[in-house]
Amino acid sequence: MGIKTISELDIAGRRLFIRVDFNVPLTPEGKVSDDTRIRESLPTIKLAIEKGARVVLASHLGRPKGKVDKKYTLEPVASRLAELLGADVTLTDEPVGDGARKVVNDLHGGQVALLENLRFSPAEEANEEAFSRALASYADVYVNDAFGTAHRAHASTVGMTKFVSEKGIGLLMEREVKFLGKLLGDVERPFVAIIGGAKVSDKIGVLDNLLGRVDQVLIGGAMANTFLKAKGGKLGRSLVEDDKLALARAFLKKAAEANIDVLLPRDAVAAAGTKSESGRVVQAMAVPEDLAALDIGPETARGFADAIARAKTIFWNGPMGVFESEPFAAGTLAIAQAVAAATGALSVVGGGDSVAAVHKSGLADKITHISTGGGASLEFLEGKKLPGLAALES
Ligand code: ADP
Ligand code: MG
Repeated sequence: MGIKTISELDIAGRRLFIRVDFNVPLTPEGKVSDDTRIRESLPTIKLAIEKGARVVLASHLGRPKGKVDKKYTLEPVASRLAELLGADVTLTDEPVGDGARKVVNDLHGGQVALLENLRFSPAEEANEEAFSRALASYADVYVNDAFGTAHRAHASTVGMTKFVSEKGIGLLMEREVKFLGKLLGDVERPFVAIIGGAKVSDKIGVLDNLLGRVDQVLIGGAMANTFLKAKGGKLGRSLVEDDKLALARAFLKKAAEANIDVLLPRDAVAAAGTKSESGRVVQAMAVPEDLAALDIGPETARGFADAIARAKTIFWNGPMGVFESEPFAAGTLAIAQAVAAATGALSVVGGGDSVAAVHKSGLADKITHISTGGGASLEFLEGKKLPGLAALES
């Protein structure tokens, strides 16, 4: 594809700017509550240190709305990173400016600086040229390792790359491109896609692009309600996108014409609302008027698990139910277990909530690849060119 990887770049003694994804969740006291994203960037940072690069890290955190807001300082991230690396990490006072320039220029080979939250400036998301040039002035070499923002054309992901001649991707990004890329290439069959989550509109692009590639599509979550209603089902108070019924019908028709098997739920766990303490199993096509389908039922979970057990390639995006709530988590857990048990298959999970569900299940290490990018992984699989990757092609 013409994109270099960090291992192919000459970084020894040079200022290596790495766009990382340190957009971690914080506790109300401002401590890092989950350091997964920091840990995931360690291999790239350690490689850079070992090779003697002068390492300049940059990330956004939260939504400070283009203003300096101490609630979103990267301070706690810098401390956690320093602990994990066992080395000093100097945080600059601002993303760009005199302070930042001095910190960067004072770096020796193998030392690490972190620019303050990029979104403290509105120029980051607006992809402004002056800001892009300022960031580029800290870089002899540019590496993007932040897959989660690769679908956004911001100053740190796209704008600045024009002004740095040597560039490429980090180890984390390399893994993302490798495994998500596999799903778009020749795969071992059967290839089963499991799609769930909240909205048809979020996922229809992926469904469409995967239609020509997969053998079977399993649809769960609130998404499934819209498909079931499109087939004449009664959905009670379930979440249904009434304006997407035609889209769902068109998808089912295309799938039938292409001989692709689409499995929809046969039963559901329904309750009055997500706060209900328990649900009851109902037919998916006949949800009682006063109830909402909040999870796939046990028969559906078994059927889906059987299909997953036969698969050689698996892609999963979107939970099967309101998994955040214990009475409606069983369907998602059953799918996580089935995917984890398919040890002979290539399995890829993408999507913020699906990934959270997999981590919650404790089965993450049984899955071939867990994508760090929600929106980015979907856009990649929709066949779109991600701006952050396109900017690195040569
Ligand atoms: P991902 O982040 O993995 O792409 P989505 O954001 O599309 O997934 O969807 C996740 C959300 O969908 C969760 O908050 C979950 O509670 C919700 N959801 C799943 N099934 C249902 C359902 N049957 N009814 C209402 N909400 C649902
Ligand atoms: Mg989500």
